[in-house]
Amino acid sequence: MKNLVILGSTGSIGVNTLDIVAAHPDRYRVLALTGGNNIERLEEQIRAFRPRLVAVISSHQAETLRQRLGEIAPEILHGVEGLMACASHGEAHMVVSAIVGAAGLIPTMAAIEAGHDIALANKETLVTAGPLVMARAAARGARLVPVDSEHSAIFQSLEGHRKGDVRRLILTASGGPFRERSLAELAQVTPADALQHPNWSMGRKITIDSATMMNKGLEVIEARWLFDLPAERIDVHVHPQSIVHSMVEYIDGSVIAQMGIPDMRTPIAYALSYPERIALKIPQLDLCRIGRLTFEQPDLRKFSCLKLAYEALREGGTAPAVLNAANEVAVESFLRGEISFLNIGRVIATVLEAPRENQLEHIDDVLRADRWARSRAAKTIEAIV
Ligand code: NAD
Ligand code: MG
Repeated sequence: MKNLVILGSTGSIGVNTLDIVAAHPDRYRVLALTGGNNIERLEEQIRAFRPRLVAVISSHQAETLRQRLGEIAPEILHGVEGLMACASHGEAHMVVSAIVGAAGLIPTMAAIEAGHDIALANKETLVTAGPLVMARAAARGARLVPVDSEHSAIFQSLEGHRKGDVRRLILTASGGPFRERSLAELAQVTPADALQHPNWSMGRKITIDSATMMNKGLEVIEARWLFDLPAERIDVHVHPQSIVHSMVEYIDGSVIAQMGIPDMRTPIAYALSYPERIALKIPQLDLCRIGRLTFEQPDLRKFSCLKLAYEALREGGTAPAVLNAANEVAVESFLRGEISFLNIGRVIATVLEAPRENQLEHIDDVLRADRWARSRAAKTIEAIV
C-alpha cells in the first residue's frame, strides 16, 4: 500500500490521479490533498478519499471547508506552510506534484527535502530551478519520476539501456491548435480559439502554452535537467497525431519510442507504479485506424516562444526562471483579453533582454528572479495596452 500526497488535486492532473487511485484501492491510499480555488471539488474529493491532511490557499477557504465537512473534516491547513506540511508528511511514500506554475516549486522542494519520491507533473519546478532541484534530490535520495507524457516516454525508452549510449532525445509536440495558421492569422486568434487543444484535455495555462509552443520549450528545459543532456542534444519534432510521445536515439542509430493514445492516465499510472505497471481501462491504440503518423520541423518564426526557451536554456542561470515567470504573467494577460496572442512572445522577449542578476546558487535566487520578471512583465504589458 502506497501513501500518496497529491499537491494540486483539484486540477486536471490531480483529478486523473485520483481516478487511478479509485481504480486501485488495494495499492494506493490518499494521505493528503491540496487545492487552490475549487473548494467544491476539493470537498467532494475529501468525502470520497478521506485524506488525513488537507491544505488550501487561504484561511477563509480552510474555514469554509471545515464548516461544510463538519464531523468528517480532516486537519485543514492553509498557505505555503500548509502545502509544505502536506508535501513533507512523514508517512508519505510518494508525492504527486501537480500544482500549476512556479507556485509548485517550494512545496515540491519540501517533498524532496523530506526524501520522498516525486511523481513530477509540475514542470516549472525543473524549469525554474533545475540544477538546484536535481542536486537536492540526489542528496536526499528522492526519486523524480516524470508525469509529463514526453518525459515519461523518454524515461521508459531509457529503461534497460545505458545512458552513455544516448545520442539525442527527440521530444514530440502536437503543434497545438494553430499549427497550420499563418503568422498573420496568429495575430487575430482569441483565448477561446487557443483553449481548443486538438488532442489533449488539460488545465488552461498549459493549454495556452501548447498553442504558443512554450509548453515544448519548458519541456526541453525540463528534459535537460531530468536526463542531464545539453540543449544541443534535445530536438523537437511536431507530430500532430500525438501517438508517439517522444523518442531516444542511440549511438548505433536505434531510435526507441513510447506510443499510446493521448491520455494522461498512462504516464501518471506509470509514475505511481514504477517500476511495475498497473492495468488501466482506457481505449486500445489502433494504429491501423489512425493510418498515418507524420513528423515535421517546428516553425520557430511562428512559435517564437520555443526559440526563446532554447535561448534561455543556453544562457543558463536564472534566465529559464525569468522566461517562465514572464510567460505566466503574459498568458494570464492574454486570457483576460488584454494582450494579443503574438504579444505573449514579445513580452517574454522584452523581459529576457533587460539587464539583471543571473546567478543561480540558491532557491532564493530563483524566487528573486521570479518576482523581478513578474513585475517587469507587468510593466511591459502596461506599455503595450
Ligand atoms: P490545473 O490548472 O488544471 O490545476 C492546477 C492545480 O494547482 C489545481 O489544483 C489548483 O488548485 C492548484 N493551484 C494553482 N495555483 C496554486 C497556488 N498558487 N497554490 C496552490 N495551489 C495552486 O493544471 P494542470 O493542467 O493539472 O497542470 C498541473 C501541472 O502539470 C502543470 O505544471 C502542468 O504544466 C503539468 N502538466 C499537465 C498536463 C495535463 O495534461 N494537464 C500534462 C503535462 C504536464
Ligand atoms: Mg507534455
